Amino acid sequence: MKIVVIGAGYAGTIAANRLARKCKDAEVSVINPRAEFVERVRLHQQIAGTGSATTPLIEMLRKNVDIQLGSVDKIGDGALRLDDGTSIRFDYLIVAVGSTVSPLPGTVAVGTYEAAVVAGASLSDLPAGKTVTVIGGGPTGIETAAEIAESRPDVHVRIVGQTIGATLSPAAQRRVCEDLGRMNVQIVQDVVDEVRTMETPLGGTVVLRSREELHSDLTLWAVVADVPELVASSGLAVDASGRAVVDEYLRSVTDERIFVVGDCAAVPDARFACATATPQGAHAAGSIIRIAKGHKIRKFSMGYTGQALSLGRRNGLLQACRRDDTPRRLFVTGIPGAVSKEGVNRYAKYGSRTANYVWLPGRKRPARPPRQLG
Ligand SMILES: Cc1cc2nc3c(=O)[nH]c(=O)nc-3n(C[C@H](O)[C@H](O)[C@H](O)COP(=O)(O)OP(=O)(O)OC[C@H]3O[C@@H](n4cnc5c(N)ncnc54)[C@H](O)[C@@H]3O)c2cc1C
Repeated sequence: MKIVVIGAGYAGTIAANRLARKCKDAEVSVINPRAEFVERVRLHQQIAGTGSATTPLIEMLRKNVDIQLGSVDKIGDGALRLDDGTSIRFDYLIVAVGSTVSPLPGTVAVGTYEAAVVAGASLSDLPAGKTVTVIGGGPTGIETAAEIAESRPDVHVRIVGQTIGATLSPAAQRRVCEDLGRMNVQIVQDVVDEVRTMETPLGGTVVLRSREELHSDLTLWAVVADVPELVASSGLAVDASGRAVVDEYLRSVTDERIFVVGDCAAVPDARFACATATPQGAHAAGSIIRIAKGHKIRKFSMGYTGQALSLGRRNGLLQACRRDDTPRRLFVTGIPGAVSKEGVNRYAKYGSRTANYVWLPGRKRPARPPRQLG
């Protein structure tokens, strides 16, 4: 049996390792554009120079996994085509191409490795006293602003977002804003309409919806909201955001031989997270192993436990949440928060590398409606 995995991120790596460990007769190939595993959860560290986001793929994948460097251009009927024109046949395919970014002109993205390297070089060239603007009030924006503020106290850091930490509880949102304020990060609650570039490299004017104009010497796009076009351009069913429509077993509704996992799969109520991608990759691999043994496959189920944010290297926030990902009141901050976040990062990478990963099942029954007050 020939099984091909497209993409060696969290979902693809754990899937390939689980298949290679349990499906000894199968030939498992992974196709990835570069020879490194990119820990996207550390891209803000890569930019600030506080950590590296890459590990050689040969250290992440089992020896019996065949690694092919390249990018897949098209998925066809039982075969796919690489960007160098070669074609590869498959019996089962796992598509794990992750998510990507669509930065506004005049900004550098945080969410891909190539862009993070450019952003890191620009930041290290930035003289003291200059201004870095981070666009995006979600986890990526918060982590990026805090990491830069801690590592470059000589530059002025600003974060712009409609809401800072919208997925956190109100008290945790306030705490994040207080901590950013303590790090001298300026918080601007607004939407960016346009970035006008100037003659200096990457310098420009950030134009807000309120029509206020802010000078910026380096503007980072910390929004990760798009997925690669591969799934849609190959004719597999996608939702309005371009993510693959999958059934309860994580199979494309267009072709039962194709499992789609991680950020590029439209799994109901799933958020872009390694905490989502890793169990999905493990489950898809498990399903192919069951099929190979002639067993029935099982529906995918996972519940969330929390969301972790780093606020520099010595501070962090762990927001406890219900299995449906709604935040609870409980959250942990300070060094325990930072240690929790580091633990989450390490567990996701460990799980991908070893294929040992456990997760909580999702809720069986729909959540009870909130109690009426008063
Ligand atoms: C700065 C930052 C901080 C984050 N922090 C957290 C966090 O704290 N917790 C959390 O849970 N999540 C976090 N995330 C989100 C998390 O990183 C992603 O949700 C996760 O990486 C998704 O995993 P994946 O396997 O689906 O895709 P990815 O990790 O993106 O891997 C996809 C792989 O597919 C490859 N690929 C793409 N197209 C092709 C193609 N055509 N052919 C071959 N290969 C292809 C890519 O190069 C890549 O190697 C963060 C993201 C960022 C950017």
